[in-house]
Amino acid sequence: MTATVTVPRGEAGTTTALMRQYLDVKARHPDAIVFFRLGDFYEMFYEDAVFAARALSLTLTTRDKGKEDPVPMCGIPHHAARGYLQKLTDLGHRIAICEQLEDPKVVKGIVKRDVVRIVTPGVILDEESLDPRVPSHVAAVAGDARSGFGLAFLDVTTGDFRATLAPSTDSLCDEIARAEPRELLVPKEDSELGATLRRAYPRLPQTPITTAGEAEPLAVLGEIRRGGVDGSDDGASAMAAAAHALVAAARVLRYVRATQLSAALPVTRLTIFRRDDFLIIDEQARAHLELCETMLDRRRTGSLLDVLDATASAMGGRLLRRWLLFPLRDKALIRRRHDAVESLVARHSARTAARKVLGGLGDVERLAGRARLGVATPRDLVALGRSLGALPELQSLLAQAIDALPATARDERLLDLGGDLATDVAERIGTTLRDEAPAATKDGGYVRPGVNTELDELVSIASGGRDRIAAIEARERERTGIGSLKVKYNNVFGYYIEITRAHLASVPADYLRKQTVANAERFVTPELGDYEAKILSADERRVTLELSLFTALRDEIGAAAERLLALAARVAAVDALAALAEVAHRGGYARPEVDDGLVIDLADSRHPVVERLAAAGQFVPNDVRLDAEGEQILIVTGPNMAGKSTLIRQVALSVILAQMGSFVPARAARIGLCDRVFTRVGAGDNLARGESTFLVEMRETAHILAHATGRSLVVLDEIGRGTSTYDGVSIAWAVAEHLHDKIGARTLFATHYHELCALSLLHTRVRNVSVAARQWQGDVVFLRKLTPGGASRSFGIEVGKLAGLPADVVARARAILETLESNSAGPAGPHHVAPGKHEAPQLGLFERAAPAESGVLREVADALRAADLDEMSPRAAWDLLAELRKKLTPPG
Ligand code: ADP
Repeated sequence: MTATVTVPRGEAGTTTALMRQYLDVKARHPDAIVFFRLGDFYEMFYEDAVFAARALSLTLTTRDKGKEDPVPMCGIPHHAARGYLQKLTDLGHRIAICEQLEDPKVVKGIVKRDVVRIVTPGVILDEESLDPRVPSHVAAVAGDARSGFGLAFLDVTTGDFRATLAPSTDSLCDEIARAEPRELLVPKEDSELGATLRRAYPRLPQTPITTAGEAEPLAVLGEIRRGGVDGSDDGASAMAAAAHALVAAARVLRYVRATQLSAALPVTRLTIFRRDDFLIIDEQARAHLELCETMLDRRRTGSLLDVLDATASAMGGRLLRRWLLFPLRDKALIRRRHDAVESLVARHSARTAARKVLGGLGDVERLAGRARLGVATPRDLVALGRSLGALPELQSLLAQAIDALPATARDERLLDLGGDLATDVAERIGTTLRDEAPAATKDGGYVRPGVNTELDELVSIASGGRDRIAAIEARERERTGIGSLKVKYNNVFGYYIEITRAHLASVPADYLRKQTVANAERFVTPELGDYEAKILSADERRVTLELSLFTALRDEIGAAAERLLALAARVAAVDALAALAEVAHRGGYARPEVDDGLVIDLADSRHPVVERLAAAGQFVPNDVRLDAEGEQILIVTGPNMAGKSTLIRQVALSVILAQMGSFVPARAARIGLCDRVFTRVGAGDNLARGESTFLVEMRETAHILAHATGRSLVVLDEIGRGTSTYDGVSIAWAVAEHLHDKIGARTLFATHYHELCALSLLHTRVRNVSVAARQWQGDVVFLRKLTPGGASRSFGIEVGKLAGLPADVVARARAILETLESNSAGPAGPHHVAPGKHEAPQLGLFERAAPAESGVLREVADALRAADLDEMSPRAAWDLLAELRKKLTPPG
């Protein structure tokens, strides 16, 4: 693209003054790229131009060519600014938009220019560059590792504003991960924190902010109400000790205010939450369980959200995402959502009709936000008005669902849009703007007739003038007898009469010749000149008047933003609940019973995503029961590909689903509420950060052992795999023991180390289960059924065969396996020693636990099984016990 400077007419010959104006603006915004409006272009100069030309593939030119020190420059047409803004913010840059504040046609000399707003990665209002179903947060951090951190995040497009405390750097990182900010404000002074967070989130743009001399946060937050997550406005309890959260909130607000130089923010309420108001899902779990995107390619398709998000509106989509990332802890709040989902499932046709209405709604939250920020277009307001107009119908459909609520939940507010449907706003918009209003204001044409008498007059002059022109054309044809005579218009000399060469002889004397073109001559008349002036000025005045009527309407609606946002939040909740009901209905999910117990009991449980990808009816459901006081740890064995990972993840997903208010993919479910879900699954993608898989795995395991509680759910997949077999089994064993003895968390432990099955002999709350597979004619057949007891074989070679290993390799592997098995100590021995290592001494794991080989465990188990308790005297039983224990106790 070439950048030509189109200096507005009146400003020609004032280049030095113009550059002075530019430099003055730039001096006030040194850390932003300045988009300097010149006529129809945004121009960039000096180093901004050099950078932008490269980043945006623009042609770099110079201003004042030929002079010494020409100024580098490049530009973009103002109507194409959106795309460029997005590219620059994606790269982490800030852009100051400097507009012409006066009309160059009216002003002599230089027009006033100033920066009207600053676009940053986190503060971007352009709908087209925003994903409608993802929040657009800018976040700030306060505090330090010693006294804890505060984190606050604000979605400028909707005014959603939240803050919390995180006691450690770890937990701060977790909270940042689920806030999903697009920009993070970090105190300039704290370079260590900045570096830590940059390491944790290399792709998140970080903006250093100066915190020295910060004003009192309470003063900055001013009018903004503060409250807890339960919706209470009495935030007193939430406020206690939340100082860092408030400081962080004040930082976000100050930063964002500084970007919206000429508008009020749509922020009226700050929600202060405690981390333990919600089920904590740290970054690992969020990634491993593929809640919002898949691990492999970071795409939404294949994630839990993808299955779950049947919302019909963008606001519902954003809310559902938040519910998923912030599942609840409080059983009363969870049951409220379950009640609502249940009644929506029951009222099938009302739900279907309601979802249809929801699907027709615009993004009321963002539209109201745009009105408040003064950037809504006529088309935006019409969409807002139309959406509000549909709410009474939605309300009456919901009444049917409210009817289906259990009697105890009748006063339920979740399915109620409240008393204020903003019908007055809908009506104001509907009576002021035309239905098919344009997105741009520059040509007018969006205010309805009858709204303003002056406007109606101007319209009639302008269009009457046009009628008049048509009349002149007819009259002149008559007068001259030239049937092909035409009155036309161009930008150079306005209305003119065009007469083809053949008829030139008949041209009357009062025509003034203006121009000769290929086949015709063009003439003007004083009469045409007069009308033109009248029409044009009427038209110009009409556009200006429409704009001022529109701006007044927009301000009025902006002032109602708080009402509209509250209403939109209710609509979003209804949409999210209807989506959960729809998914429950389609997938045959069950309402989970939630309580404060420590049991997780799933009957015919399925994996919501794998089930959906499998052919209909092909997914094999399983019963799973965990109980912190009984079957606390399940050791899940089975061959590769049997379905271990799927099973253990589906339990974690069911807990998350239940606690976010969803039904779960099972025939029946009981969920003793969890405080955290931990996962250690797969190798992860941290390889890119240059760490070894094993190191990452151990760090994640350490994190779990440090933070899990008796209320947590821990899901471990193949831990210890990244090292030698002995190290691996030993670590896995010790981790399981620690979870059993010290923590008591409900744990699912998928492993291919069959040795771990022996844990159940030594520890009361460990159970073995396996995902069944059978050998059939030399092939492995996966049954996918969970059965009690450990797997006897790993079928690794059969899986290798399935995967297409050459026949001779498979045969050789079988032979090696046989040798290994005949050398090793029975069924509990290792099946996973690499060929070539088979001369190494066999597993040393039980040397600590028992004097002899691990076969001793088998001996003990056999003896116990063989003992006939009915026939035994208490004394004999005691003797047997003592003897068995002696076997298990190392000498000395
Ligand atoms: P493992 O962890 O034991 O190696 P996975 O859990 O990765 O096995 O499962 C392997 C494949 O088996 C999955 O990709 C899935 O398609 C399929 N699968 C797992 N569980 C089931 C099930 N219960 N019913 C049907 N297919 C399943």
